[in-house]
Amino acid sequence: MNLRVLGCSGSIAASCRTTAFLIGEHVLIDAGTGVGELTLDELAGIHEIFVSHSHLDHVLGIPLLADSVMRSRLASKPLRPIVVHALPATLDALRTHLFNNVLWPDFTRLPSAEEPIIRLAPFEVGDIVEVDGRRIEVLPAVHTVPAVGFGVESPSGWWIYTGDTGPNPELWEALGTRRIAQLVIETAFSDEELAVAIATKHMAPAMLARELVHLPVNVPVAITHIKPGEQAAVIGQIAALGLAQQVHALSSGDRFCF
Ligand SMILES: [Zn+2]
Ligand SMILES: [Zn+2]
Repeated sequence: MNLRVLGCSGSIAASCRTTAFLIGEHVLIDAGTGVGELTLDELAGIHEIFVSHSHLDHVLGIPLLADSVMRSRLASKPLRPIVVHALPATLDALRTHLFNNVLWPDFTRLPSAEEPIIRLAPFEVGDIVEVDGRRIEVLPAVHTVPAVGFGVESPSGWWIYTGDTGPNPELWEALGTRRIAQLVIETAFSDEELAVAIATKHMAPAMLARELVHLPVNVPVAITHIKPGEQAAVIGQIAALGLAQQVHALSSGDRFCF
């Protein structure tokens, strides 16, 4: 399984793109501003998008992607829609606040209601969705809006992405004793902003240690969603924790093969 990190920043700045991961050539996990790293041909190859939650830094790429690829998609008959998989509450938020003909045209009814470019597909926590020959599991997350993480099965174990989350005991229970190829876990804030992290249901290094005691020591850990300008502080504070696992900061442009 090939994984490309298109964006893994907690917000934007030069060279900081927000969350988007490309699995193979056709599947996106979250669709933040990192989607803008893809060429038009690569964008046209996206068939499935799995969305962790409704926050803008994870969904901004969806309406723009639909616009960019509609012309090329119209050339093929019948029109193949881009399927957006998310919790029912997340899909409702996209319909109400994004594809509402105010912020953006309703691409769930364009170019026609019968054959739209975007199709919304609800899932629930615990579901395993099979797409593009892969099994993608919907994992629990704890955030300020309904949210999930994802597990993608690969030949060398599961690739696990926590999504945006505060402390999340249900995740560790759900992971059980399965083999994990990599854990991508968010640490949005440094410890100086611990109160903000708690209030917004994100993580800070001081909280990370309590989470990772549940993870086998041989699982590589990659940190995502660090706010721009906080990289050095967050990574320094994590290094000082002396965690049992190997931990590094994810970078936009990273590629992994699991
Ligand atoms: Zn969020
Ligand atoms: Zn976020």
